[in-house]
Amino acid sequence: MILLNPKQHQRYYADERSKEIMLHTIDFFEQKGIRKLKEDDHNRTWYSDFLDFQKSERAFATLLTPPGYGGLDGRWDTWRNCEFNEILAFYGLAYWYTWQVSILGLGPIWQSDNEALKQRAAKLLQEGEVFAFGLSEQAHGADIYATEMRLTPQPEGNYRTNGEKYYIGNGNIAPMVSTFGKIDGTGEYVFFVADYRHQSYVLMRNVTPSQSYVAQFALRDYLVTEADILSRGQAAWDAALNTVNIGKYNLGWASIGICTHAFYEAIHHAAYRRLYGMAVTDFSHVRQMFTEAYARLLAMKLFTLRAADYMRSALPEDRRYLLYNPVVKMKVTTQGEEVINLLWDVIAAKGFEKDMYFEMAARDIRALPKLEGTVHVNIALIVKFMANNLFNAANYPEVPLRDDPVNDDFLFHQGPARGLGQIRFHDCGLVLDRFDLPNAELFREQISAFKVLLARAMPTEAQTQDVDFLLALGQILTLVVYGQLILEAAELYSVSAANGDLIDQIFHVLVRDVSSPCKCTSSPAALRRRWTTA
Ligand SMILES: Cc1cc2nc3c(=O)[nH]c(=O)nc-3n(C[C@H](O)[C@H](O)[C@H](O)COP(=O)(O)OP(=O)(O)OC[C@H]3O[C@@H](n4cnc5c(N)ncnc54)[C@H](O)[C@@H]3O)c2cc1C
Repeated sequence: MILLNPKQHQRYYADERSKEIMLHTIDFFEQKGIRKLKEDDHNRTWYSDFLDFQKSERAFATLLTPPGYGGLDGRWDTWRNCEFNEILAFYGLAYWYTWQVSILGLGPIWQSDNEALKQRAAKLLQEGEVFAFGLSEQAHGADIYATEMRLTPQPEGNYRTNGEKYYIGNGNIAPMVSTFGKIDGTGEYVFFVADYRHQSYVLMRNVTPSQSYVAQFALRDYLVTEADILSRGQAAWDAALNTVNIGKYNLGWASIGICTHAFYEAIHHAAYRRLYGMAVTDFSHVRQMFTEAYARLLAMKLFTLRAADYMRSALPEDRRYLLYNPVVKMKVTTQGEEVINLLWDVIAAKGFEKDMYFEMAARDIRALPKLEGTVHVNIALIVKFMANNLFNAANYPEVPLRDDPVNDDFLFHQGPARGLGQIRFHDCGLVLDRFDLPNAELFREQISAFKVLLARAMPTEAQTQDVDFLLALGQILTLVVYGQLILEAAELYSVSAANGDLIDQIFHVLVRDVSSPCKCTSSPAALRRRWTTA
């Protein structure tokens, strides 16, 4: 079974320690139990029990320390980190969030040339500390060019630092908050570490009403020395973008974990609930909704698994992950919302009950499309790859399933974040040709029609400036890529061999989605008008 089953966790791990962390984590949450998980959620109880657990297990230390900085078992291995992501979200998004923002906080640190700060981070991981990523500011949202955090040079060579950060997870407890700002006068970008215990670090408030602490904090004349600086100029800018490139991938796993737990609850409830002398699962429309929810959830998981292979195999000359990761971010997380909608239509009132995981899932699933760049920001990114993806395929050696126990070195040496338009992709037709299924065939026809449309009525200059118009195109391109990697994963995980009908059912869903790409942007009529008048 490809979905997470905590009662029978049978995922392959190359070493015992990886398996042990996953089993112990599952055990921690199972011992805590759903009642207490929900009670803590409702009371917004700070999750010190989980932080104590991860410290004694050395979970973050093992999973997030590259070799050479920690114990023997430390490596950044996306194969096992995927599973840890999924398990945490399966039990509650707050537990996942403290791990996720630690990953983000460590991004600029492991990418830095400042060896002393890396050694400090490794030591803090061993001591069970968590980390934070201070990029966002209240007034600027996605526009990080406009950052107002200012480092003013002092005669003795240090910097007096002033400014505020907003929405910063773990900002209340992280001894190293990787913080983004600009040097006053030159405007040079800089990443430095701030310590929440410093007297000039003013923790203002938690901006969310939740178990997590999502901080607004200010630095008021905070003294930053050269020793606190992680990177400057282009390197600091690249560290910001490259960290988000890695971090945004995890959001897909959070959605998968949430949907998997919600799916189990929903089907259990529906199967045991009897109406008019029959089980709710006997209604044909309920079967249809469960089938679609399952197909969408499996597609989410297959795509996200396959995207990890490309991320782990990335090289300066193969950066296909820069397309696949935003697709995980925007497509998998919005599919998560679809899955919850379908399940909620089945379980109806039950989805509001306080003892159900579902009630929490219905709230939390909506967060994931909005974090680390909204859906729009990610589609705008995806569109940059459209021409090369559809019309300029390249040959690459086959990327295998990457469950090997190695450190993902490249993720911290991604190089310049620019040059996206030059990245080339393998032909999506290759894998589609290997599947003789009715809906995969229809999908292939849709892709051909889309390519003909783009080739014969190339977007005009005005259209390329029209974000709304591009978002609609980006939705279709996203589906092309989504279908392609789902099929690749279906082969690698032998899902297609075992169950061709299931893959066909997934494509039944995708074919319908290609036909209705405009639901979150312009109406189809408005788009047609704009296309024909261009
Ligand atoms: C619970 C929570 C935790 C968070 N944790 C952290 C954290 O730990 N560290 C951190 O640094 N940040 C964190 N964030 C910030 C988060 O990453 C941002 O909220 C997110 O990137 C979206 O920014 P925004 O909400 O300010 O939207 P805005 O940037 O204000 O966007 C407004 C609208 O404009 C659209 N838009 C903006 N730019 C573009 C574009 N280029 N193309 C197309 N459309 C565009 C958006 O889609 C949106 O519809 C957190 C946020 C929340 C809510």
